[in-house]
Amino acid sequence: MIPQSILCLINRHKPDRNKARWDGFHYVGACTACGREVYRLKSKTWRAIGSG
Ligand SMILES: [Zn+2]
Repeated sequence: MIPQSILCLINRHKPDRNKARWDGFHYVGACTACGREVYRLKSKTWRAIGSG
């Protein structure tokens, strides 16, 4: 199992689903490991905002 901190480095984030909110286009939330704002690209795939 890969630590979440390593996954963050390759832009695979893990937000607190309970705190995720809908912004009109995506679910967005703060990553539990790195604290960055992330959005849900698709199911189980969250990407940092502004990273492409
Ligand atoms: Zn992260």
